[in-house]
Amino acid sequence: MAGEVDPSCNPVDLMAQDSCNPSGLYGVEREADGEESSGSVQNAEPTPATGRNTDADYSTFDIVKATQYGAFERCKELIEGGYDINKRDNENVTLLHWAAINNRREIVRYYISQGAVVDAIGGELMSTPMHWATRQGHLGMVVLLMREGADSSLRDGEGCSCIHLAAQFGHTAIVAYLVARGANVNLMDKNGMTPLMWSAYRVTSLDPTRLLLTFGASTSMADRLHGNTALHWAVIAKNHMAVSVLVNHSANVDIANAQGESAYSLIMKRKTQWLDKKVLEKIQEMQKSSRNICYRISNDKTLRYWTMMGTPFLVFYLVGLVFQISILYLFKLAIFTALYVIIYGISRILYDERLMTVMPMAVYLATKFWCYVTWVLYIHEYSGLGVTVLFMASSLLLWYNFLRAWWGDPGVITADQAQKYQTIIELAERDGFDPQWFCSTCLVRRPIRSKHCSVCNRCIAKFDHHCPWVGNCIGANNLKYFIGYLIMLCGMSCFVLQGCFYYWNGACNVVFLKQSIWTSLKTVGTCEPWVAWVGANATLHAVWVATLLGCQLYQVLILGMTTNERMNCYRYKHFQVGKKGEVRSPFHRGVWRNLQDLLNWQCLGLLKPDRTDWLHIYTLSETSEDKQPLLSQSEMYQDLLRHALPPLWAGAHLLRQRSGLKEFQAISQKLN
Ligand SMILES: [Zn+2]
Ligand SMILES: [Zn+2]
Repeated sequence: MAGEVDPSCNPVDLMAQDSCNPSGLYGVEREADGEESSGSVQNAEPTPATGRNTDADYSTFDIVKATQYGAFERCKELIEGGYDINKRDNENVTLLHWAAINNRREIVRYYISQGAVVDAIGGELMSTPMHWATRQGHLGMVVLLMREGADSSLRDGEGCSCIHLAAQFGHTAIVAYLVARGANVNLMDKNGMTPLMWSAYRVTSLDPTRLLLTFGASTSMADRLHGNTALHWAVIAKNHMAVSVLVNHSANVDIANAQGESAYSLIMKRKTQWLDKKVLEKIQEMQKSSRNICYRISNDKTLRYWTMMGTPFLVFYLVGLVFQISILYLFKLAIFTALYVIIYGISRILYDERLMTVMPMAVYLATKFWCYVTWVLYIHEYSGLGVTVLFMASSLLLWYNFLRAWWGDPGVITADQAQKYQTIIELAERDGFDPQWFCSTCLVRRPIRSKHCSVCNRCIAKFDHHCPWVGNCIGANNLKYFIGYLIMLCGMSCFVLQGCFYYWNGACNVVFLKQSIWTSLKTVGTCEPWVAWVGANATLHAVWVATLLGCQLYQVLILGMTTNERMNCYRYKHFQVGKKGEVRSPFHRGVWRNLQDLLNWQCLGLLKPDRTDWLHIYTLSETSEDKQPLLSQSEMYQDLLRHALPPLWAGAHLLRQRSGLKEFQAISQKLN
């Protein structure tokens, strides 16, 4: 008979309900960097078996088979013919069980409306229909049954409630939904196993272990039978992903189980090839840190932070100092080598890989600091008071932009516990969890253009990138200040370089245009090496900051994209790819309007920036009402010419009027 029916029905029978399917339907198996892979769980119901050419076949089905295959009309016919809705089959299973395990929602609704007992207990495992739906990972069915009054806390014959089953089988979305609907995240099953222990033992993907930890699952609880913590179970199962997640959540490696074995001793007893090298190092560190005082001091996070922040200040000064002292170049080289060895030694002992993100900012702060010192000690005497005042005034603007970019809120998407639960319930009950729109780390609904920053571990509205030079994410609220900072930093580097020229001119009698470059450079290097060192740094900064600024402005003004969108546009369905492979942003409004949006200035109503609140916009249709249609590549440049380069555009028009079409076309081609 089975061969005659529509194979798309894919029914599940009693044998299949015990099959373990840890891969899960959730589909959000994150990669190590915190990014989501594609895939989602929608609440789509399988196609009901109302096939055209199989009606005759269904008419011969008994009610159990009709329920399994989703033949709604046949089920209705049999119930209306007097079949007892709560009657059990030979395996002590009700019709509702069969409908639930096969995700036949229409039939479930009908059976319940006809008086089916929602929490009927049946089958070998003494389970409810909800247990069966949970094992199978049918989020939509779980939602439906709970709406109809099913109790998720009931235990099956093995003493597991629904949250234990969802955790065992890796159905993260169901775990999230159950917790949001009030299930205890640390609920113990008959043997004292918590959902976290089951997940650590059975599920090899990152979720739901990480989700349970985000919900506050305890890492120190131990089961009643073996006294194992979740970390013990992860080690026993050689589940490297779970060990990594638990260790990163500071799970204690020293808790002893009933046999007196700690997770650490279990790891050391076994071969450790299955474990990530970094995770193993971290476990060994944690072991040492709980015993060794010296180790604890050298691993103090504050000490490490300030050592890393301070090193660039010291190195900048020492390098300048070595240049300054008058000894043989060979000795200088020897001192530099010694300096390198010492710094390398310090970095081995006191640097923290997890704090490496502070280094670029420390380098910037050190460079700025020594530039100020140099200006005061060397340059101001030769630059004159006016230039010094201008330099200091411009640096005020730089610090204003820098501080707003560094300490300002980039647009963090926040939600309290109640809001997070509400979001989960809403998404589960409406259209399932699409990882593109739900962050399973922050447990928030993701606004359009937002992204989870893996460095800061938070979701940012209109995420641009995480900038190590300002030690913050760049997003909806601080992009303007970041660009302002780049402009000012570029200007200031040029200012310092100009100041150095004043100095070389006044103190060293270097006249660049009248002497050969080699003679000038030689004089600059020997006259005052410290100023030459600072000048070289200013040049370097000016060049790279100008490059960065150019890229940033190109993206914001000409492409209408964030850095993240430019890098990952293929991930976003709302980004269109043109015939020649060029990607068009739906947020591009033309160069002039993009500039107004960036600045967000109204100038007494003369400018009309787009005031979209990127923290609360979830779909493209919710964006600005006066959003322009997509511009073609040539329209983009015309737009740029009209607005950003008005004199050039006007010049080209004038030329067309005066000198004929040919010249105009030549110029236009060049510009395009
Ligand atoms: Zn997030
Ligand atoms: Zn960040």
